Amino acid sequence: MPWRTPETNETMHEALHLRGLGGVLAAKPAWAFSDDSKILCEEGRIVAIGDATEARVRSLKEQGVTVRVLNGDGLVALPGLIDGHVHPVAGSTSVVPAGSDWTHCYLNAGVTACVSAGELTVPGFSARSATPDTVTRLATTSAWCFGNIAAPPRVFAGTLLAVPGLEERHIAEVADAGGRCLKYIYYPFGGDGWREEVERYRHWARAHGLVTKLHAGGTSFQGDSVAATGEIVIEVAPDLYAHANGGPIPLSDTETMSVIEETNAFIEVIPGGNLRLLGRIAGALRERGELDRLTVGTDSPGGNGIVPRGPLQAIVAISALGEVDAATALRCGTDNVARSHRIPGGAIRTGEPANILLAGPVRGSSHRTISAAIESGELIGIGAVIYEGEVVALPARFTPPPEALPAWAEATR
Ligand SMILES: [Zn+2]
Repeated sequence: MPWRTPETNETMHEALHLRGLGGVLAAKPAWAFSDDSKILCEEGRIVAIGDATEARVRSLKEQGVTVRVLNGDGLVALPGLIDGHVHPVAGSTSVVPAGSDWTHCYLNAGVTACVSAGELTVPGFSARSATPDTVTRLATTSAWCFGNIAAPPRVFAGTLLAVPGLEERHIAEVADAGGRCLKYIYYPFGGDGWREEVERYRHWARAHGLVTKLHAGGTSFQGDSVAATGEIVIEVAPDLYAHANGGPIPLSDTETMSVIEETNAFIEVIPGGNLRLLGRIAGALRERGELDRLTVGTDSPGGNGIVPRGPLQAIVAISALGEVDAATALRCGTDNVARSHRIPGGAIRTGEPANILLAGPVRGSSHRTISAAIESGELIGIGAVIYEGEVVALPARFTPPPEALPAWAEATR
């Protein structure tokens, strides 16, 4: 990260050189585990991968830049996980259920970014009396507050809850404040002209770069959410069909499969829903060659409790229950979440934010590789979490440790 030297007031920086890796889950030339053993991070971004890091390190040293070296001891570099479905309230405080520090716990299970699916657990929020102005104020205030928080993980907050009567200015305001999504959860899907209104919302969301999300299946735990039928989901055609395996109750299998077949929506699954259906959804998308549509969230802390390992559990379930290879399952909780929400990150690629995990099978596992562990249904151990080029957990505290742990080598300059 950049810092200023008090004597000169010039911006200097240090770089992080990851070495001794046992491979990289690379984004190029194809999404797959590569044999690369090095990654170089500078000013919060990935600047080189593999042997290409060496020339850059030499040049940095010549410029007097400090290069810190973390030896991965054979662990594999994965992109930081992105939880695509959280309900934040204020910073790391959770109100439903009551708890503090939840974001820090998630970071310690490899989650380097979260996307809000609505700030609807804010004390006093009322779906019944929500108006276009109140939902807009809630979303813009939340986007602004979370946007000011530098501590990891990054929380993309400020999701506009769709209610009747929204105008384009509401959607524009939320987009300007940094909000990412328009979410259907309380919208009644009834009354005169609702179809035309949803069509207008779709048009405005596109024009202002918001992703449309729809709460799938039965009502949420608060009991106020509207359960849309499969037919309505297909009609609304959201960009993302949230918790398709239930939040916690899904549509029927037949309706769920119709949504997969008849829309192009990203399909999100969560670990706290119906796991049998999660496996069926992953299997169906695999057979259709459409696993690039499958994304992961946790519907937490509200809804599903505080579940730091939730994204990892969903990835493992996709792999083991849907017979999806580990690299592709990991993509569902990283790159696919980033693409579906149009946020940066989710891939180990030059230019991306340097959000990286060093991971391996948990100490004592019968498996020797990450792929074998995940495909067998096992969680993996995270030896280090790197957020924007800084090591923020060594090791991660919310997974058991892998066999080896990364270690610092001398900084060189
Ligand atoms: Zn939710």
